[in-house]
Amino acid sequence: MKNRKPAPADPDYRAEVEAIYAELERRPLPRQCEMRTGCCHFRLAGHTPLLTRGEALHAAQGVRASGRKVLKPHPDGACPLLGRDGKCTIYKHRPFGCRTHFCAAAGGMYPRKHVADLIHRLEALDERLGGDGSRPLEGAIASALAER
Ligand code: SF4
Repeated sequence: MKNRKPAPADPDYRAEVEAIYAELERRPLPRQCEMRTGCCHFRLAGHTPLLTRGEALHAAQGVRASGRKVLKPHPDGACPLLGRDGKCTIYKHRPFGCRTHFCAAAGGMYPRKHVADLIHRLEALDERLGGDGSRPLEGAIASALAER
């Protein structure tokens, strides 16, 4: 794996990530995410979301906005951003993978063909930002927090 470069100054990444998330919301695919958090328990779900660099930087903003500077592991092996109240602490900043649920109760994972264009946009942004592809959530956000 190549060394990760410092993030270039690119104020547009936030606008692009938010535009992608907004476009996802407009897709006519019924989902009922009501902060069920089933997908946040990685060991139980059997999945960990993978984040591109733009998503990680955006999520790191959410972490900072919540008053934290680092991630602390969750005692149950769940997402470190799952709060003590059982809710996501960065819900508005949650990554793409958290929005395209692994959670069967909320409607199941989005078929890739319905979101492939959005994934491609995230990958293109990753490249622009000097990323090297998707990384597991905890490491991706921890790196983003350390860099900015
Ligand atoms: S970022 Fe939020 S929604 Fe995504 S896995 Fe973590 S706690 Fe769950």
